[in-house]
Amino acid sequence: MGLFNAMMSLSGAIDTDAIENERLARHTSYRIGGQADLFLTCHSYHALRRAVEILSREQVPWVIVGKGSNLLVADTGYRGAVITLGREFQRTVLAEDGVTLTVGAGVILARLVNDAFTKGLSGLEFAVGIPGTVGGAVSMNAGTRQEWIGSLIEDVVTYKPGAGLRHYAHDDVYWAYRENGIPRDEIILEVTLKLHLGDKPEIRAEMERSLLRRRRTQPIGTASCGSVFRNPPGRSVGAMVEECGLKGFSVGGAEVSPVHANFIVNNGNATANDVVSVIQHVYDKVKEAYGVELKPEVKFLGF
Ligand SMILES: Cc1cc2nc3c(=O)[nH]c(=O)nc-3n(C[C@H](O)[C@H](O)[C@H](O)COP(=O)(O)OP(=O)(O)OC[C@H]3O[C@@H](n4cnc5c(N)ncnc54)[C@H](O)[C@@H]3O)c2cc1C
Repeated sequence: MGLFNAMMSLSGAIDTDAIENERLARHTSYRIGGQADLFLTCHSYHALRRAVEILSREQVPWVIVGKGSNLLVADTGYRGAVITLGREFQRTVLAEDGVTLTVGAGVILARLVNDAFTKGLSGLEFAVGIPGTVGGAVSMNAGTRQEWIGSLIEDVVTYKPGAGLRHYAHDDVYWAYRENGIPRDEIILEVTLKLHLGDKPEIRAEMERSLLRRRRTQPIGTASCGSVFRNPPGRSVGAMVEECGLKGFSVGGAEVSPVHANFIVNNGNATANDVVSVIQHVYDKVKEAYGVELKPEVKFLGF
């Protein structure tokens, strides 16, 4: 593959920051992951388009990443380019109706939640405390079991490599728990969300309740990717794993959190292989006990 050619074309390119051999542990909430051959931050649509075209021409694999809060990256890293969205994708615009927000995919979700609260807009309270970017949240349809970001979406703009911009209205794609129908080969650039005017003290109270629930039930402050498995319909993975007696089960530095059994935490020195071993063990034990084949929510990169 023409990695060298790609690097030569991209280093110094307008609106693109290119770093060679970047450790991905620096870019994941797990603080795990070897090097990516190339780490690109594209600050404009044109820069992104150019980067993708060069990578495709040079046959360098690439992947789009947000803040890496739902990613497990292999210890051997990723042979290819990791792309993140920079400045032009970090804007938020409030429409004249006062309730419709158009948000760049690079905006940090926590900032959006806070912005909405400041403007007295309700609807995003459930998302308080979810790390990552808006692009990552839309791609994952992030939220709780009952509420997710897709329900608020009016419109999504994506870049389809080789084709250009695509628009999807809410009903053009399906939205379900941690799932949506946005084609996987497209890069989410911007979304328009419909919120509603709310009472600020009530919004604040709801956000505080959500945060408190998180602090009570999740290992906040320990490196993780959040929930590792998706909850099967009508069941809680946390409860199943706990009933299997797996809380505290560990391999190397990776451990089933004693606080929340669907979190596998990095106690400081875990490798990706440690985490995978714990995931495999939990999967096997739950299958043995319940006949249920758990589906990972975490995304794997470089395996
Ligand atoms: C402590 C903790 C708590 C968490 N709690 C929750 C929770 O309550 N609910 C929940 O849903 N999740 C939760 N998560 C998981 C994670 O925060 C979400 O999945 C988040 O939305 C991921 O955003 P990100 O920007 O970090 O995406 P990344 O982890 O970087 O990427 C995730 C996926 O999205 C894709 N992606 C990212 N950006 C784009 C883009 N612009 N276009 C197309 N695809 C893209 C990536 O390719 C990858 O497949 C938690 C994680 C942690 C660490």
